[in-house]
Amino acid sequence: AQSMGVNRSTLVTAMDNLAAAGMIEGKHGGGTYVSGSGWHALAHGAAPDWNEAIQEGWYYPNLPEVQLINRAEFQHGIIRLGTGELAPELMPEDAFKEILRSLSRRSRTLNYLEPQGSLELREALSDFLLTCGIQASPSAILIVSGSLQALHLISVGLLPRGSAVLLEKPSYLYSIHAFQSAGIKMNGIPMDAGGLHIQRLKDTLRNGLPQSHTSSLLYTIPSFHNPTGSVMSDTRRNELISTAHAEGISILEDAAYTDLWLDEPSPQSLKARDLDGRVLHMGTLSKAVSPGLRLGWLVGPEPVIRRLADIKMQTDYGTSSLAQEAAALWFAEGYHTRHMDCLRPELRRRRDFMLELLKRYFTEIAEWNKPAGGFYIWLRFTAGSLSIRKLFHACLRDGVLIHPGYLYDRLDADHLRLSYAYASPEEMERGMQLLAQTAKNLFK
Ligand code: PMP
Repeated sequence: AQSMGVNRSTLVTAMDNLAAAGMIEGKHGGGTYVSGSGWHALAHGAAPDWNEAIQEGWYYPNLPEVQLINRAEFQHGIIRLGTGELAPELMPEDAFKEILRSLSRRSRTLNYLEPQGSLELREALSDFLLTCGIQASPSAILIVSGSLQALHLISVGLLPRGSAVLLEKPSYLYSIHAFQSAGIKMNGIPMDAGGLHIQRLKDTLRNGLPQSHTSSLLYTIPSFHNPTGSVMSDTRRNELISTAHAEGISILEDAAYTDLWLDEPSPQSLKARDLDGRVLHMGTLSKAVSPGLRLGWLVGPEPVIRRLADIKMQTDYGTSSLAQEAAALWFAEGYHTRHMDCLRPELRRRRDFMLELLKRYFTEIAEWNKPAGGFYIWLRFTAGSLSIRKLFHACLRDGVLIHPGYLYDRLDADHLRLSYAYASPEEMERGMQLLAQTAKNLFK
């Protein structure tokens, strides 16, 4: 710059203008580069350097461990001790066969549907939500291709780049990635056994936020939290709503696991307590029914639903019509209630079995919670220092897949997320024994 006789502030202003025009970007590792530089080779007639080009998209890559997990899950014979989905044998296969048979007798359109979702499904969901204490007219519901899509739509449609969301620390892995990749900062609020720590939230809102981190949205998983399994109590939920009111923040409630209560129904949702439309509520069929169906929903004020439906139209034209028709029958014909009644005792048995195995093999080296629903046990090693990364790789070499705590909170050093939803009891027995032995060998 000096040799060109340009002073630093002129240069900084020029860089800012280029960034604002989308011509340069901060790279994930830091620094700045000219957009599209990985494509230089092409411009010069050389063969494309794809290894360089794949560094340049703005979406963050998964951590190497997550990429490994995503591949290993499909390996034959692997024992999945952390997977956040139901085992195939717990899914309602017969009910879906019946539903597909009824659908095959119907005449249907093969055209695009409304991007907001089929009216038939939104009406069925409106009735279902009412049974959960949530009043949502079909016009206040957006059907999404899995609730992760709702997080993406909100990240790009409601939140300004550079703004910040508040969220539990730790939190659902891909919510963190969706926010991060959309250029949104995050303020993690500590949790305790009763979920989000409301006093710490108040402290953060009053004096803990850097000026540039003004937050107006709190993302929370109040029931059977991923990854900790905790449940926010009735009292805390009321306190959260009144804090949100007093501090002028909105709430995004992720109810992915709410229906999966095992001991007693979860306290009423935050949305059911929402008096002035400040809570957005998302749900999904993925956890209790079928993740492969890719069917979720978002409930919110109509301007939000219309805005996000418009982006959804531009993104994927709407959720698969076949999945929506199946889901509409699933709710309207009472399949959901019947399925949950059968699923709960089986999931309860698996939870109790995993707790028994923990007692048998982990008593001297770890502590854990007893979840009242959902899939997860948040295990903390207590017997000294241990590299969770090494534990992950050592277990994987022996055919056991685990989910390290640092996937859900970058700085976490001593937790694992265990799930009792996927492994069969026999696999659980073998896997947990191997995990305990491997951990014991690694303790310093
Ligand atoms: N929220 C939470 C808390 C989750 O755990 C998950 C799945 N792991 C999702 C949302 C997204 O699920 P889907 O997109 O399949 O609805």
